[in-house]
Amino acid sequence: MSEQPLRVVQARANGDNLKPLRAGKRVRYVRRIDQIPQIPPELAARLGPVAERYVFRANNYYLGLIDWEDENDPIRQLIIPREEELRDWGRLDASNEAAITPVRGVQHKYTDTVLLLCNEVCGAYCRYCFRKRLFMDENDEVTKDISEGLRYIESHPEVSNVLLTGGDPLLMSTRRLVEIFEALRAIDHVRVIRIGSKMPAFDPWRVKNDETLLAAFRKFSTPGKRIYLMAHFDHPRELTEPAIAGIDACIRNGVICVNQCPMIRGINDDPGTLAELYSTLSYIGCPPYYLFQGRPTAGNEPYEVPIVQGWRIFQEALNRGSGLARRARFCMSHETGKVEILAVDDERIYLRYHQAKDPTDLGRFFVRRRNDEAYWLDQLEPV
Ligand code: SF4
Repeated sequence: MSEQPLRVVQARANGDNLKPLRAGKRVRYVRRIDQIPQIPPELAARLGPVAERYVFRANNYYLGLIDWEDENDPIRQLIIPREEELRDWGRLDASNEAAITPVRGVQHKYTDTVLLLCNEVCGAYCRYCFRKRLFMDENDEVTKDISEGLRYIESHPEVSNVLLTGGDPLLMSTRRLVEIFEALRAIDHVRVIRIGSKMPAFDPWRVKNDETLLAAFRKFSTPGKRIYLMAHFDHPRELTEPAIAGIDACIRNGVICVNQCPMIRGINDDPGTLAELYSTLSYIGCPPYYLFQGRPTAGNEPYEVPIVQGWRIFQEALNRGSGLARRARFCMSHETGKVEILAVDDERIYLRYHQAKDPTDLGRFFVRRRNDEAYWLDQLEPV
């Protein structure tokens, strides 16, 4: 790629000012902070070591969503590194995913769902990513050769859902994706193929301009066995006209769309922002599914919101939307399961296992002492 600074596309969130990217034109990627002309050289120099520790990548379309006049712009927070990321905080594998990895590239935590980690690259890198370890050189949790993973799924008839993840599966070639769809559809007990992707936010043209991919969606997302797109929009400004068109292309070609995202400080930790995100997602046919409490992942301290504060923001956002905009559950993806934060009162936090690693925990309701500073389940004392 060129080492010249990119001409960053100035795009408004409503998408009316996206002329520089013609339909069919691929976005241009940028991998170095000093290639972004809006970032002064001295700041770029200070951010260099952060990007060396936790990889940076973006593209001209996504950078064009940033209001560079606003130091606290939410899209800027999402994609541009911050020096505070280097503070000693959290663990790289905060939910101990290594413990649920039976073979390379496979995670199996909940009975009916298996994760296939089939790609270790994303369209851009969210600064708060909980899987940032996958993008580091020493990582070997992802494999492009999924044959062992397929054998694992084949030998587990209880697996009805397979989530393609990583990394972002929509960064793989369409030919490779089609091969994976074919292989999974040959396994009778796999009913749902999920694609976990932020490409509709980072590069909406990836989906909407790829006729071969859309044809594959029509072929492999059938009335009895659907493909789901687990989209990842964090802020309403990401829902530009092309992004909405990308979701529309998925829906029109048989894919069911839902959205999941974490609550992130400086990005969506505001009831009005979250309510607008949820309402717009419901209008475009990609309703909210999960809101995740940020995992205590190394490098993520500047992006974390305490549980109690997050729960209040979430409740207030839910009060503002229609029923379709209120379908999200606020959960922690803890090592022991998906723990839903149900309620908070003056003294306690009320929780429930929405999913559980140990099936006997499934649905279990439990109570912890309220702690307004806590970010994670392990910091909450039993009552
Ligand atoms: S798209 Fe997902 S996997 Fe990729 S950097 Fe963002 S949060 Fe991480």
